[in-house]
Amino acid sequence: MAHVTGLRCRECGHEYEIAPIYTCEWCFGPVEVVYDYEAIKASISREKIAAGPDNIWRYADLLPVESDAAINLGAGYTPLVRCDRLAEALGLGEVWIKNDTLNPTNSFKDRVVAVALSKALEFGFKTVACASTGNLANSVAAHAARAGLKSYVFVPSDLEAGKIVTTSVYGGNVVAVNGNYDDVNRLCAELAGTYPWAFVNVNVRPFYAEGSKTLAFETAEQLGWQTPDHVVVPIASGSLLTKIDKGFAELFKVGLLDEEPKVRVSGAQALGCSPVAEAYLTNSDTIKPVKPKTIAKSLAIGNPADGYFALDVVRRTGGSMCAVTDDEIVDGIRLLARTEGIFAETAGGVTIATLAKLAQSGVVRPDERVVAYITGHGLKTLDAVEGVVGPTATIAPNLEAFQAAFTIEEQ
Ligand SMILES: *Cc1c(COP(=O)(O)O)cnc(C)c1O
Ligand SMILES: [Zn+2]
Repeated sequence: MAHVTGLRCRECGHEYEIAPIYTCEWCFGPVEVVYDYEAIKASISREKIAAGPDNIWRYADLLPVESDAAINLGAGYTPLVRCDRLAEALGLGEVWIKNDTLNPTNSFKDRVVAVALSKALEFGFKTVACASTGNLANSVAAHAARAGLKSYVFVPSDLEAGKIVTTSVYGGNVVAVNGNYDDVNRLCAELAGTYPWAFVNVNVRPFYAEGSKTLAFETAEQLGWQTPDHVVVPIASGSLLTKIDKGFAELFKVGLLDEEPKVRVSGAQALGCSPVAEAYLTNSDTIKPVKPKTIAKSLAIGNPADGYFALDVVRRTGGSMCAVTDDEIVDGIRLLARTEGIFAETAGGVTIATLAKLAQSGVVRPDERVVAYITGHGLKTLDAVEGVVGPTATIAPNLEAFQAAFTIEEQ
């Protein structure tokens, strides 16, 4: 892998060889993949990418995997849709939705899992595992099945039924834990020290995280190698948000963008689990862990591993943050579905509700080109909207009954 030189601690800069490790031996800081950008710059081009596969592996030069070992279920290269009706409803100008509901297991997690499990195969692991708020488990189970790996996925037992079913069907081990995500995560840290497994968000997390950059790569490519002025990104652990920022910066480093990108990055959280937004809104440098209580279960991480990095990105880029209520989340889901025909899960509702609030307060401006990341499909969280939408009318099977229920004026 000529384009990857090793791992480096994000806190103290200590360097390591490529290995399944995630914390620095010196300061316990998180480690991250280091690339040889000069070497990549010499071999990468817009034409080479355009000729690549229609999935995340078209950006293999900027991912920490030998591309011929890549597990491929077709993650990535999802539509970037211009949304004029939504823009009008929000009083904005140019709004785009990156529709990541259309991934193989219907969430953006397929991007990170494809990279993590490809790396796990390279390292020679036979069993993969993860702590998950739902979508990650779903994606790990599917990719493990595809790759012939054993899997153990750990989820809070109060998860939406839709997420348990769509995960269990792949035949791996699904372990429902009586506790919240942070309890599940603690258990997995202990298991990771006990079994020789690749834990997607523990010992292979540095590789996993890199997969999120492909959302930035695709956005720029789909905009004709330009970057948006403002992006709105949902936050769980904060990894996705920091990697979207990193992805735009890398494209410039390797010569794929003409101008240095200046993308304002705003973060979206649910009020019932908003430790990062809370720190931002109170102008604090301390992220206080919380006990999550929100319908946005895929974002319910009370003690976010990349929270401080996410906070830094938002402040450095001149973005902002919001925390939205459960009712606003449901309104966000319905607004996006009604105006654009895209059905998002609760995390998408968080993103749209945040975009709406930031537009209202003038933080996101009508003269900006905005991209909102819709990271999961609505069929996974039907419970969120079940009580508020349904048939317009229920009628007997005859014309009179229909005409009694509806007054049809225009054709
Ligand atoms: C996991 C997840 C996120 C955010 O992921 P982080 O990288 O942990 O911040 C966003 N949306 C959905 C639907 C997710 O499943
Ligand atoms: Zn360190």
